[in-house]
Amino acid sequence: MEKRKYVIIGAGPSGLAFAVRLMQRGEKDFVVLESEDSAGGLCRSEEVDGSPLEISGGHFLDVNRRKVLDMISLFMPRGEWDLYKRETRIFIHGREIGSPVESFIWQMPEEVQERYLRDIAEAGSNKGAPKPGKFVDWIYWKLGKSIAEDYMLPYNRKLFGENLDLLGTYWLEKLPSVSYEETLRSCREKRFFGKQPAHAQFFYPKKHGYGEVWRRMGEALGDKLRLGEKAERLDCAGRTVNGRYEADCIVNTAPWASFGELSGISDRAADVVRGLMYSSVDVDYVPANLDTEAQWIYYPDPALSYHRILVRHNFCPGARGYWTETNSTRAKPLAEGAFRHTSKYAYPLNTIGKNEAMDELLGELRQSNVHGLGRWGEWQHYNSDVVVERAMGLADSFLGGGR
Ligand SMILES: Cc1cc2nc3c(=O)[nH]c(=O)nc-3n(C[C@H](O)[C@H](O)[C@H](O)COP(=O)(O)OP(=O)(O)OC[C@H]3O[C@@H](n4cnc5c(N)ncnc54)[C@H](O)[C@@H]3O)c2cc1C
Repeated sequence: MEKRKYVIIGAGPSGLAFAVRLMQRGEKDFVVLESEDSAGGLCRSEEVDGSPLEISGGHFLDVNRRKVLDMISLFMPRGEWDLYKRETRIFIHGREIGSPVESFIWQMPEEVQERYLRDIAEAGSNKGAPKPGKFVDWIYWKLGKSIAEDYMLPYNRKLFGENLDLLGTYWLEKLPSVSYEETLRSCREKRFFGKQPAHAQFFYPKKHGYGEVWRRMGEALGDKLRLGEKAERLDCAGRTVNGRYEADCIVNTAPWASFGELSGISDRAADVVRGLMYSSVDVDYVPANLDTEAQWIYYPDPALSYHRILVRHNFCPGARGYWTETNSTRAKPLAEGAFRHTSKYAYPLNTIGKNEAMDELLGELRQSNVHGLGRWGEWQHYNSDVVVERAMGLADSFLGGGR
């Protein structure tokens, strides 16, 4: 049995950032176990058709978290990144319009604009109706019937799965909130008014894919990073992994259901783990350029299998081609020789009651000094900059204060 102060499960951005923060604070008694043979988790890149491709789907670094950018620049300095202004589109009514849809109704065919505006005016949120607790009702309440039925509901069914009734509303602050006044003004003046969703500005590496920064972070961990070592058996009460590692503290960033055996937890905690839902994504590469300035385009049309296209030649210098992102349950057979990568765990589903259930699970595990961190450890739609910030905060809380 190898005894360590910290055993970290998973070398995606959260496990890597947690480990790097320990090292920065002088703590060297840890190992990171990673089931894949490379670090980076969902943020990994591979070279496909001569240029980098993000194998789990499009990844960009948000510009807003200073502390995170400082940590990341230790591994990939600012000079290695290009800064982009977000240019994204939605393909609807046979054409590309800007995003979010409420700010670009004026780009739709004239015959549908009036219907969209009338439906927004009649939406519950503009009539003082109380905020509903279910995702589907919330969409009608917030955006009105036309945007709900032509865009939000079909798009989210493609992304998360057919049964949107399972989803709650507590995560919807991620969606851009554009007021009715801003929508009217954008229609009147035929230009954008409102708020951009995440990544209004973002960084993407000049020469590499997004995965490069995480690869370098993994490399900096030296032999403390154990690649190809899956945590198969996690005993929370005894704080052991695979019967091989024993820790004072375990930090888990892997999906709780990914362990072959998860023991030392209550029946209630085991129930919570069984109830956690997710959706999977297939990324398929297409070696052709598209006639658009967008970096990515959303496709709500249920007749198309994919929900998003990433236009690689518009953000990756010198690259050609694009890739599609498709919920794995909708994926079509792959042409011979074509590139596809499947990420089984891509999106944690924000089901009703999930946050309360996770509070119970993580609260119980904390008593055994086992901690959940990141997109899967906490089961939240966190982006990579958010998980890095949380990882740094968790390490600082163990080591006493921040720096
Ligand atoms: C399609 C898509 C687009 C996204 N776009 C962006 C974006 O533009 N910008 C952004 O910042 N974020 C984006 N994200 C989110 C980003 O991927 C996550 O925030 C980030 O990867 C979370 O890091 P993590 O370490 O918590 O989880 P992960 O990256 O999932 O890492 C978990 C790690 O644990 C390993 N693991 C799993 N099971 C085990 C086990 N049993 N034993 C050992 N290891 C195990 C996995 O192999 C993986 O390396 C996107 C996500 C998706 C799916």
